[in-house]
Amino acid sequence: MSKTNLINETFEKGEGILRLIPNFIPRRFGRPGKRLCLHPDDYFSLGISRGAIKERWFSSITPAINGELAAEDEGLSYVAPTDDVKDKFLFKDAVEELGKDLIGEELMKEYGTWPMFAKFFDFETPLFHHLHLDDTAASRVGALGKPEAYYFPYQLNNYLGNFPVSYFGFAPDVSIDEVKARLLDYEERDIRITELSRAYRLQLGTGWYTPPGVLHAPGSLLTYEPQWNSDVNSVFENITAGDVYDYEFLVENCPEDKQRDIDYIMSLMDWEENVRINYKKKYFRPPVVCDHSNKQFIEKWISYANEYIGAKELTIQPKQTVLVKDKVAFGCVIIQGHGKFGVYDAEAAIMLRYGQISADEYFVSEKKAKEGIMISNESSHEPMVILKHFGPNHPDMPKEPCK
Ligand SMILES: [Zn+2]
Repeated sequence: MSKTNLINETFEKGEGILRLIPNFIPRRFGRPGKRLCLHPDDYFSLGISRGAIKERWFSSITPAINGELAAEDEGLSYVAPTDDVKDKFLFKDAVEELGKDLIGEELMKEYGTWPMFAKFFDFETPLFHHLHLDDTAASRVGALGKPEAYYFPYQLNNYLGNFPVSYFGFAPDVSIDEVKARLLDYEERDIRITELSRAYRLQLGTGWYTPPGVLHAPGSLLTYEPQWNSDVNSVFENITAGDVYDYEFLVENCPEDKQRDIDYIMSLMDWEENVRINYKKKYFRPPVVCDHSNKQFIEKWISYANEYIGAKELTIQPKQTVLVKDKVAFGCVIIQGHGKFGVYDAEAAIMLRYGQISADEYFVSEKKAKEGIMISNESSHEPMVILKHFGPNHPDMPKEPCK
């Protein structure tokens, strides 16, 4: 069968829902949190030199910028048309082939493609203080800017790692020259840049939004991270949890002639937001319960109040069958329970082998989302919990941070 036919047939058989294959990403730095529901023997499936697996990506058409040894398709999600992994095709090809039938007319017109993806980010150790470029800076290296959101699900956080605290920006009384002085020493000493920052203890069942240009050093919780289609950053911290990050990490996404230009590097920051006094008020995201919640299911906005990405947590009570509607296309992952998701037998992952097909990740077309998906929680005891990630176009997404 041709790929085009396979994609169309799969879409039809799934009644507008595609089942995706787990998409695990190794990282050369940090230590793995081992909360990805991956078999303990499989964390080095890509070889020791690639580092342990520390992320899982969802509904992604974005390749991972992950060193010279990374495969060309690293980061890209695949669709499972059957239970045989050999039949897989790229989610990206499905987006191209199905276009507006999959992602809807609005996203197709505005972006020409599916504009976001989500991750499980799983480090035992804290991550370096870094920022993501905005659209202007990213366009100079042929990429898109990257806003991102975080949510800390209870189900995957029995263990909080060794530093459950995140730094954001800099303390409001820090001057830009103090930051500059530290960066000028990047290759000379441990610059301990977070001495100039401020940290917040992370709370399960809540989240944050981080705009481009704001420094952040994420704590060690397993984090659900909906984000824009981009993987560009600049690392402002040269030593984190004992690991050394060389100068390349600071400037790898700067044009070549700017890599020794300290003022250019400083310009990657949105300074005002970095030192914002009411930072938590503006960027903390406690969950917001949706009005349509009832005795059978509860739905909450967990990423909201930004121009790029949205996410919801859907909880279906034991032994309930519900029709759940959304107005736009979305990707999702089941993190607790089992039952039916549309035509599929669906279940949260407990322990996956690397490269194996699962029944926990889906992508729902706009038309199907509007009609509604019949979801059954077949457990007599446990709720079924699903995280759903959206582009910027969900009309019900709260526009303001929660008061
Ligand atoms: Zn980040």
